[in-house]
Amino acid sequence: MYFERQTFLVAGLSRSGTAAAEYLLLNGAKVYVFDDVEDANVAEARAALTQKGCIGIRREELSEAVELCDILVLSPGIPVDHPLPVAFKKAGKRIVGESELGAVALKCPVVAVTGTNGKTTTVTMLESILRTAGKNAVACGNVGKPITSCIKSLGEDGVAVAEISSFQLETLTSLRPHIAVVLNVTEDHLNRHYNMDNYVYLKSRLLKNSTESEYAVLNYDDEIVKGFAEKTKAKVVWFSIKQRVEGAYLSDGWLCYNGERILSWEEVPVDGLHNAANALAALASARLMGAGNASIIAALKSFKGVRHRLEKIGQCGGVTFIDDSKATNVDSAVKALGSIKGETVLLLGGKDKGYSYEPLFDAMRNSSVVHAVLYGENAFRILDAALKKGFTQVTLCRPFPLAVRVAYLTAKRGQNVLLSPASASFDAFKNYEERGDRFREVFETLLKENEAAESTPPTGDFSEETSE
Ligand code: ADP
Repeated sequence: MYFERQTFLVAGLSRSGTAAAEYLLLNGAKVYVFDDVEDANVAEARAALTQKGCIGIRREELSEAVELCDILVLSPGIPVDHPLPVAFKKAGKRIVGESELGAVALKCPVVAVTGTNGKTTTVTMLESILRTAGKNAVACGNVGKPITSCIKSLGEDGVAVAEISSFQLETLTSLRPHIAVVLNVTEDHLNRHYNMDNYVYLKSRLLKNSTESEYAVLNYDDEIVKGFAEKTKAKVVWFSIKQRVEGAYLSDGWLCYNGERILSWEEVPVDGLHNAANALAALASARLMGAGNASIIAALKSFKGVRHRLEKIGQCGGVTFIDDSKATNVDSAVKALGSIKGETVLLLGGKDKGYSYEPLFDAMRNSSVVHAVLYGENAFRILDAALKKGFTQVTLCRPFPLAVRVAYLTAKRGQNVLLSPASASFDAFKNYEERGDRFREVFETLLKENEAAESTPPTGDFSEETSE
């Protein structure tokens, strides 16, 4: 890309689109910006960018922009089969994402992490280990910090720990990570990627540029990911929670690396074996980046988990509330069921992504879930799956705040209310964070109501009530 000589259209003014436009401007490019959503955030982003030198364009000017611009920078939120990228493609022009701009510009080694679930947890763990080891590591990419905004601070000596989603992989072609980590591949985003074959193919693209000089850290326990080993030229290092492998594995409750016991899993303060898998992937990558055991032990022992991922938010009336709002697909919700201790009322529902919910109810059979409260746009699809699988302890309830209350009223003392929705949040919320925050708000309201009820002495003549 020749920034001074080329004209870019940045489509989608979310965090990454804004970062891309700023990065291009800084490098002397002519930048047009567009977003087809008209809300306060977009208006603010557009105003800030035009003040810096970008040119805002309207929907009716788009066909002109296709002629005028050489390269389309597409937000991960816009699919590649949207009319705008299709028009660019037809005109024989390039389509890239913000992460592609970052991949081309980064001067430091990259550890890139993909997979259906566990990316944020793993990059957070790895960033923490590498920082403890004294490296200038920065978790970036899909985790919320655009890669282009980190290029300067990373320099040549840093380590970019980049979370890469399947949406980003649609437009990412140049990345050649020093270490490519693939955590797992289970059904997700089929409404965007159409079918599992396409989704698997996109995930495999993280490895496509790897040579014999690079590493692939792959999950031995996941059949799809295991298959990637045959296709990559990279040196494969495995991780497994089930068996001893060349690489990182769990053995007798210990996180081990190539025959060496490193840390007892019990000492890592997060629940769920899926998190042990994430820790093993982080551990293997950290060792390959030269981190020592002391840094791995110190960082993992103080790892507190990430917000909205199996996050215990408190107790109300003897009921524990757990926020796993980021469980936006079936497998992550299944993993939550396997991690929770004690009987549980489960909150499920949201925006449908085109997969079957039946595996969730298969998993429910051997779990501690005593009741499910269904809410959201897909509540009836989930209900259908529940009934097909013979799970009848179900209440259908909308809207969300009421569903949380109903879950609380259904739970007995000592039980949990778990929000692990197996669905996206976009039917009723801006994102999963807002859904989790709303869950917490209802919890806090219930807490206040409980306290108020406990501190109010009973009044009135009860004998009169019985005489009616
Ligand atoms: P991602 O960034 O890939 O969405 P997160 O670390 O944010 O992953 O976790 C998303 C959801 O998936 C949470 O509900 C979390 O508990 C669950 N999860 C985390 N790691 C795994 C894993 N390895 N396998 C399955 N589910 C996981």
